[in-house]
Amino acid sequence: MIIDCHGHYTTAPKALDEWRARQVAAINNPSAAPKRSELKISDDEIRETLEKNQLRLMRERGSDLTIFSPRASFMAHHIGDFQVSSTWAAICNELCYRVSQLYPDNFVPAAMLPQSTGVDTASCIPELERCVNEYGNVALNLNPDPSGGHWNSPPLTDRYWYPIYEKMVEYDIPAMIHVSTSCNACFHTTGAHYINADTTAIMQLIEGDLFRDFPSLRFVIPHGGGAAPYHWGRYRGLALGMKKPLLSEHLLKNVYFDTCVYHQAGIDLLTRVIPVDNILFASEMVGAVRGIDPESGFEFDDTKRYIETAAINPEQRDKIYEGNARRVYPRLDALLKKKGK
Ligand SMILES: [Zn+2]
Repeated sequence: MIIDCHGHYTTAPKALDEWRARQVAAINNPSAAPKRSELKISDDEIRETLEKNQLRLMRERGSDLTIFSPRASFMAHHIGDFQVSSTWAAICNELCYRVSQLYPDNFVPAAMLPQSTGVDTASCIPELERCVNEYGNVALNLNPDPSGGHWNSPPLTDRYWYPIYEKMVEYDIPAMIHVSTSCNACFHTTGAHYINADTTAIMQLIEGDLFRDFPSLRFVIPHGGGAAPYHWGRYRGLALGMKKPLLSEHLLKNVYFDTCVYHQAGIDLLTRVIPVDNILFASEMVGAVRGIDPESGFEFDDTKRYIETAAINPEQRDKIYEGNARRVYPRLDALLKKKGK
């Protein structure tokens, strides 16, 4: 089976955008804020958005199941206060849960957290508990920069983040390190801010000793790990200079890279540099880069094509498609085993 560990509900019905626009417009006048009950989306509307988009592409391209989280660029943790983020996260997570109920064989949810700059991360725990215990979420997305491009939160290795890590260890769930919209004009959201954040996360983890405190904590670094695999020699060298253990020990027991790299040469590099056991299949389809690559004639985010052509053996390919995901997402593995898969 082929598990895509990186999908977002980028095609959610328009009513969601409209509700959010009203919420944002009312930030300075909370009495005008829309109620959660005012958002009305039918099951048929959800089905329509998926059948036309993600499900159609999954069927055409041949992937089976997607770990599905709310639209990342819409998390926008920099907007409003904790209360605004909290209501918004609850709505988005409920929607992904409904997707997983309508298509239990195709979508398994991952949670968005109600993060807010400067707020204690313990405030995210009730939503995370609800997502895991009531909605069956198998992972979460952790935004290392809730400011949206100003980077004023402590690094991921700081104790600021520990309440979330403690919960992740308790639940045995991984986090994808995933920023949201950039509100800094210097950083294009998906072209710069995303890739910067992936790279930044790797360097923060090298500088710190987080996995000494949390040996079973697992992070997925999306978008192929940003610039890190391309510059792996630099990172290995920096780690040596800092008297850190080899990256195979220091990082690769806890850190995984997805395959959201949108050309063959990028995947060839990823599979050559990063051990296959640390690579997870993903497409982030119907996401940042839509359209057909004139060089290949296929859509940029049709990442399965690159894995099929990469110089790896069938056993390694199976690990990338399925085996590694079952290891990194034990709750997903348990869910599949319960269904006899
Ligand atoms: Zn994403």
